[in-house]
Amino acid sequence: MLTLASPLADLKGAGKTTVARLKKLGLDTVQDLIFYFPFRYDRFESVSEIGSLQDGQEVHLIGQIDLINNRRSAKRRMNLTEALIQDDSGILKVVWFNQPFITKNLQVGDFVSLAGRVSEQYGGLCLTSPAYEKIPGYESGDTANLRHTKGIVPTYHLVEGLTSKQLRYLISQVLPLASSLSDSLPLEIINEYGLIPLSAAIKKIHFPDDESHLEEAKRRLGFEELFVWQLRAQLIKRQLKGRHSWEIPFNQEATQNFVNHLPFKLTDGQKKSGWEILRDLEKPSPMSRLLQGDVGSGKTVVAALAILNTKLAGVGRTLLMAPTEILAGQHFETFQKLFPTGLKIALLTGGRKEANWLSGKLKPTEIASEADLIIGTHALISDKVSLAPVALAIVDEQQRFGVNQRKKLSDLNGSENNCPHFLSLSATPIPRSLALALYGDLDLSLINELPAGRKPVVTRVVKENKRETAYAFATQELKKGRQVFVVCPLISPSDKLGSKSAKEEAEKLKNTFPDFSIGLLHGKLKSVDKEKVMADFLAKKTQILVSTAVIEVGIDIKNANLMLIEGAERFGLATLHQFRGRVGRGEEQAYCFLFTDSSSGETAKRLEALVKHNNGQELAEEDLKLRGAGETYGSLQSGFPELKIASLFDYQQIKSAQVSAETTVAADPDLKRWPKLKEQIGKIEASVHLE
Ligand code: ADP
Ligand code: MG
Repeated sequence: MLTLASPLADLKGAGKTTVARLKKLGLDTVQDLIFYFPFRYDRFESVSEIGSLQDGQEVHLIGQIDLINNRRSAKRRMNLTEALIQDDSGILKVVWFNQPFITKNLQVGDFVSLAGRVSEQYGGLCLTSPAYEKIPGYESGDTANLRHTKGIVPTYHLVEGLTSKQLRYLISQVLPLASSLSDSLPLEIINEYGLIPLSAAIKKIHFPDDESHLEEAKRRLGFEELFVWQLRAQLIKRQLKGRHSWEIPFNQEATQNFVNHLPFKLTDGQKKSGWEILRDLEKPSPMSRLLQGDVGSGKTVVAALAILNTKLAGVGRTLLMAPTEILAGQHFETFQKLFPTGLKIALLTGGRKEANWLSGKLKPTEIASEADLIIGTHALISDKVSLAPVALAIVDEQQRFGVNQRKKLSDLNGSENNCPHFLSLSATPIPRSLALALYGDLDLSLINELPAGRKPVVTRVVKENKRETAYAFATQELKKGRQVFVVCPLISPSDKLGSKSAKEEAEKLKNTFPDFSIGLLHGKLKSVDKEKVMADFLAKKTQILVSTAVIEVGIDIKNANLMLIEGAERFGLATLHQFRGRVGRGEEQAYCFLFTDSSSGETAKRLEALVKHNNGQELAEEDLKLRGAGETYGSLQSGFPELKIASLFDYQQIKSAQVSAETTVAADPDLKRWPKLKEQIGKIEASVHLE
């Protein structure tokens, strides 16, 4: 007898080859198959009459076969199956290619249901390669069992050799077993949100009778996906809150003094975020907060407030991890300026080990023994040196790090009794719903404004025939003493570090801008050389900086007001927005030119979005619309599970899932009553740790 655990080989129609193909999809058992959901549906709403068909129409027909046979097409050397189908209103020609077995299945006199598109061919209408299905009981009016050609028909992700029709057939065999699945969601939650039971949802997700069935099924299954993810987040949060951390008092006088000495006034967003962070630090449980703000919104100085208070508390130091050596180096400079006295700051990257109170060749251990603030790259988590005691761990541009790297930073270097406070900085603006889904385990602070007086960057898409005009404009700006960034994409996969493409571009530009000097930055340079290139640009020794995507994050050079991006179509919107964020930080009007020779409509739409929106948040919403959630969040955050059903647009549902997860974990922190949910969380955990 078939059970949920039965191997798929036990099913009718699942021979060796089919079983092997199903295995490629990760499907071994009946249960796996039941949980293999469609990714799309075709809709064959009503039955058309042959007599009233029109060219190009998507149709669903029911008729009787008048004639059917195979022949070889002489010209194209393939097998043609041709048939004539008749209903009360007329006769239609049907053609299939290279499926000679159809004539074994369908015979003259059979009633069939067909779905596909009709088109005008050889002077008459013809239905080409339709999905077909025999209707044995049709004379007696029985079409209830049509699976492939009637109503809402599921389509599955496949591998070579497998068809959705086969999957529908196999799934319809095992679907009755869905009734024996016990529900994984707590009953209170099912009732509270009016969800349908799991078994019903599964039947309806595969073979919905109508749209409302499909809706119900998606709501139920989507809720569960989000709920499990939020449960995991709540467990992480709870675990963290259960640990102890240093209580870092808010030193009002010193903070006020620091703020008063800044060359600018903090924005409201900066003040509010700073306040939230400082309040967290005072608590005995570790902070776990994400500070999100568009490029240039001034997150660094907010982080500085936390660093200052941590230092003054005298309990432990701060670690600041940045994704690139250049950025780490720049932070090293910035923080020395922000704290001209009294703070011992060290830089620890693969290429540089420095400290502002020591000199010479330094060992990490020397640095670690005294520093108040250690800035670095991955080196911070890969080095064997203990940097403890760390009271505050900060990750800049956190979207560039995996969940594990972040976790490692705060796990390492605590003390026996205390776990560091943790602060993430991110410039990837994401829709509200997405933030809630992705960062359920973090508290969120938002800086939703730019410092006053920033002018939006004027962005233009430049076609090849306007390149000269763009260069003439650049020359003008250069003559005024401004500086220019040029970003180039990788031109060949073998050129992983982009040295070739960047070099070639720099050579070209030497001819275009003979009066100006050009710096070159790419992944193959040693870190000292990178630093030198950046330092030269900062000191205006070079006026043009050609670089690969390494320029993307963080770098702050006020005098550069023009950004030229080559092959713009090759970058994602979020990345392009990050590039653009490199300019427009000073007083001058800034410009961003997107060069592209792509004529694809989709590219045009994406680049136009960039022209239209200067605000990262708006751009993110637009990006999500253009590309769909899957692609967007995938690149946003490693470690986020693939959602099969749930929509990341659905703020309401995500919020409900979060609230329910909170209640569930509060009532039963070990999920003793919910072994199935625990199992699902375990699966996520395993996949996250595989990265
Ligand atoms: P991001 O949020 O992208 O990390 P930064 O912290 O690098 O931004 O800040 C960008 C620039 O804006 C820096 O030069 C910084 O000194 C400046 N800045 C920060 N806050 C303000 C403010 N309130 N007013 C004016 N300029 C500011
Ligand atoms: Mg920054």
